[in-house]
Amino acid sequence: MSGGKTANVLFSFELARNVIVMGVSEDKVWFADLSMEEVKDAVKADKVIILPVGSVEEHGSHLPLSTDSIQPEHIAMEVAKRTESLVAPPMKYGVCPTTRDFPGTISISFHSLHRITREIVEEFIRNGFRRFLILSGHADEEQMVALRLAARHVMWRHKGENGNRKIRIMVCADYDFAYQLRGKYFDEKDGHGGTIETSRVMAIRPDLIKGEGKKGFSKLPRFEIVADPKGFLPEGIIGDPRAASAEKGLFINNHIIEEIVRLIEELKR
Ligand SMILES: [Zn+2]
Repeated sequence: MSGGKTANVLFSFELARNVIVMGVSEDKVWFADLSMEEVKDAVKADKVIILPVGSVEEHGSHLPLSTDSIQPEHIAMEVAKRTESLVAPPMKYGVCPTTRDFPGTISISFHSLHRITREIVEEFIRNGFRRFLILSGHADEEQMVALRLAARHVMWRHKGENGNRKIRIMVCADYDFAYQLRGKYFDEKDGHGGTIETSRVMAIRPDLIKGEGKKGFSKLPRFEIVADPKGFLPEGIIGDPRAASAEKGLFINNHIIEEIVRLIEELKR
């Protein structure tokens, strides 16, 4: 963490601003809570569908296995409230090759994630929706490639269709935006289960924080693929969770929400 006074002023400012942001209520944003009639209206209104994707994965001794699901689901809900979008039932499993040997990681294959994502988006299209944001809270390379490839295959299938039905899909990780704050407010090397991630969970689900955690680091080689990544990640985390706070988490989450609201506005054009 760096930035001292400036950062604290910013955190407080963000805290205050969060209170005055207005939007539609929470019970109007979850797709699966709609009735058949409400879905027809949502299609007519050309609503954007946000699909949160997470993982069930170890996050050190201080964070829950659901850490990567909690974050994008929260962001998706807040963005949907501000943009009158809908949040699809979240995908709570992900591809976790690096942390697979730690207790609690339940990893699915690249092909499973690719296939289910493709099928879900196709089903929304069959229902008449055409604008999508796939938002992953787990930024593992293989996870992101599976999601991007699924979106690409959907786009290829609908290529050349009538212009009115034009499909648009964005794929990103909320960490694409969270990590913009590294170097400025947080350590350059902060990562899995570190200050940023711990702060974010503290702001969203403080009841799930299990102590302050240990500082961890990665000795994983840059290019070599190893059979036992666990041995290169002694604490199962990268960064210092002891520097985390709910206030920092709120600041980070608000930054991500703002950036993703902008993406949705772009998708609506
Ligand atoms: Zn994570």
